[in-house]
Amino acid sequence: MKKHNFSAGPCILPQEVLKKASEAIINFNNDDLSLIEISHRSKPFVAVMEKARSLALELLGLEGKGYKALFLQGGASLEFLMVAHNLLNKKAAYLNTGTWSDKAIKEAKAFGEMVEVSSSKDKGYSYIPKGFSIPGDADYFHCTSNNTVAGTQLKEFPETNVPLVCDMSSDIFSRQLDFEKFDLIYAGAQKNMGPAGTTLVIIKEDILGKVERHIPSMLNYQIHLDKDSMFNTPSVFAVYVSMLTLQWLKDLGGIPFIEEVNNKKAKLLYNEIDRNPLFKGIVAKEDRSIMNATFVLTDESLKETFDKMWAEAGISGLNGHRSVGGYRASMYNALPLYSVQALVDVMQELENKVS
Ligand code: PMP
Repeated sequence: MKKHNFSAGPCILPQEVLKKASEAIINFNNDDLSLIEISHRSKPFVAVMEKARSLALELLGLEGKGYKALFLQGGASLEFLMVAHNLLNKKAAYLNTGTWSDKAIKEAKAFGEMVEVSSSKDKGYSYIPKGFSIPGDADYFHCTSNNTVAGTQLKEFPETNVPLVCDMSSDIFSRQLDFEKFDLIYAGAQKNMGPAGTTLVIIKEDILGKVERHIPSMLNYQIHLDKDSMFNTPSVFAVYVSMLTLQWLKDLGGIPFIEEVNNKKAKLLYNEIDRNPLFKGIVAKEDRSIMNATFVLTDESLKETFDKMWAEAGISGLNGHRSVGGYRASMYNALPLYSVQALVDVMQELENKVS
């Protein structure tokens, strides 16, 4: 029996995906060669890349709508830079809702005027700012859909006439959204998609080609698009596992199916956090993330006991981010409901023990 894996990323992946991936390391495609010892230009791998790209668009409902998918390298962190390099002419608007938005802002600042439309930094990113306005002359508006560290999530996206760019690293493929609202979406693979090592970028092609600066080839979305995501050697293993995970999700019933499961998991845990007097949530209730639930003990002296109890129950990865402390239960797509139940059981056992 594996551990209940609440890790924030890299994180739990479907067991059947891991099994298929490990088989492909030994013998891929029944060719008596490993997936990682064949050319990325070989027919079997080109088919993997094409399948991964088309599954991503299909699951988001973006096929045939002017979008293309890329699997790049450098993590979501390199996208902070690439977005600005490829889209920022004069002015960009950013919403600062967490550590990762803040880093994206830092990278983009070097390319032009930065308008931070709103920020919740002064309150430890414990809520999502609302009611801000986006300058109509900005080259684009950037936001982070889910704040992995603090545990908040954008429930609504602003109506704007400027291109909408979103870092969906920690909640992509977890909930239904009107994905056509977005002009560029990026996400590191290592949460809902696969192992670390590749980044999915979804681009509406018509937003490119509007900056005049020279863009280095490896940072140029158009070059990656022209080369079908094979401008340089892609992360073959990470792309393959992402493809398997996307196929797993499609077979289950896609985003509508997994959204329902994710809502059930989040409801189960948040109900317990709110009911049990020994725990409390740390972010605004209306902005709570369905993926990353953050909470603390109301009595810190119980920490040692609680930590021992959940470790003994086979729970792993529950410690909060070093900048926040407390606990963070990451409930990505592949985490089963029974793992959340196991955590809730331990929280109730703690309550019984001290009362
Ligand atoms: N954005 C978000 C929302 C994240 O959660 C992370 C990493 N956890 C990043 C960006 C950075 O991703 P990477 O480590 O792939 O650069």
